[in-house]
Amino acid sequence: MPPLSDRTRMIARATRRGEGRRPVNPPIERASTMLSDTVGDMRDESLGPLYGIDGTASQAALRSAIADLEGAGHCWLAPSGLAAVTLPLLALTRPGDEVITTDAVYGPVRRLLTRHLAERGVTTRFHAAGASSETVAAMMSDRTRIILIESPASLTFEMLDVPALARAARARGVITLMDNTWAAGLAFKPLAHGVDVSVQALTKYAGGHSDLMLGALCASDPATARAIAETHEDLGLCVSPDDAWLALRGLRTLPLRYAEQARSGLAVATWLSRQPEVARVLHPALPDDPGHDLWGRDYTGAASLFGVVMQDGDEAGAHAFLNALILFGLGYSWGGFESLATCETPQLAWRQERPAIPGPLLRFHVGLEDPADLIADLETGLAAWRSSRL
Ligand SMILES: *Cc1c(COP(=O)(O)O)cnc(C)c1O
Repeated sequence: MPPLSDRTRMIARATRRGEGRRPVNPPIERASTMLSDTVGDMRDESLGPLYGIDGTASQAALRSAIADLEGAGHCWLAPSGLAAVTLPLLALTRPGDEVITTDAVYGPVRRLLTRHLAERGVTTRFHAAGASSETVAAMMSDRTRIILIESPASLTFEMLDVPALARAARARGVITLMDNTWAAGLAFKPLAHGVDVSVQALTKYAGGHSDLMLGALCASDPATARAIAETHEDLGLCVSPDDAWLALRGLRTLPLRYAEQARSGLAVATWLSRQPEVARVLHPALPDDPGHDLWGRDYTGAASLFGVVMQDGDEAGAHAFLNALILFGLGYSWGGFESLATCETPQLAWRQERPAIPGPLLRFHVGLEDPADLIADLETGLAAWRSSRL
């Protein structure tokens, strides 16, 4: 049989033979204490988890499914996507080390780098969003320990040449860590492109229903995996069996939801890009996007999350636009079944270099609604934008 697609594997894991009479899905086992029959058994790790912090059936099933999806030897779960990015940064750096990342890195991760890690002697240098791999490679010094990759970048969606960056880093013994949330482990496989550690916020597409917080990180290299496993243990990170079970349920339909939302997202993004009030839509799957060639070369799909730069105007106009929407919820996060909209102009103030844009920056997440209905909603929003500016 040829290798199975992600879509099949996320289901076939549940139905495989040879595991006896059982329910399709693992049980939710709520536990702190695990009991053994003898004192000798209490030390035997081959008999299963020794303590609730090791996780039970649903966490184990989720870990192995995500490792399968990311093509990784090891997977760990963290209580949020943020904690999943934080963990390898803590595990793999020592005082005097340096991290290189994009100026458009996910905001809370930037805060960790400039606050917690800086106080412990780990410095960070930021490269311009959308920098070439040569530019980033030229920034590496003897102190560089990690290149933290986010592609496309948060809020402004610039693409990086990930395979070239991974090659340059590996040649100098620098570890690459990639936030793969946008690709959801589906549209891009970081480890297959030479990246050492792939992280995703399962809160987003894997959860898919805006009802849980969870993160995962994957690695295959034994030394990297050992460092991450030890820090995961030292920090006492664990996730609830119920949340793991919900994320596992999400994985069964993840490839279908992701593909359908990508289609709708591109339709809505294309429509927005043709409106006179819009200067640019920031979405690497659009043919005229600066990151389109890299996306087309490396990615097999796209998230339904993109930015919209207005032609002119200010935040008050953006608020009028968003307040007039009925189908788009106003809320942070993304990857769920529901469409969402935010105004992201304030978040750009965190950057070293603010992008030169003529108007406010909006962000849209397209859910599973009919895209024609969403476009009608956006027409209402644009009418409110126009009247706010009369
Ligand atoms: C949301 C997000 C995270 C953090 O995930 P949480 O589960 O919300 O902590 C990390 N990276 C990116 C790119 C995100 O969008």
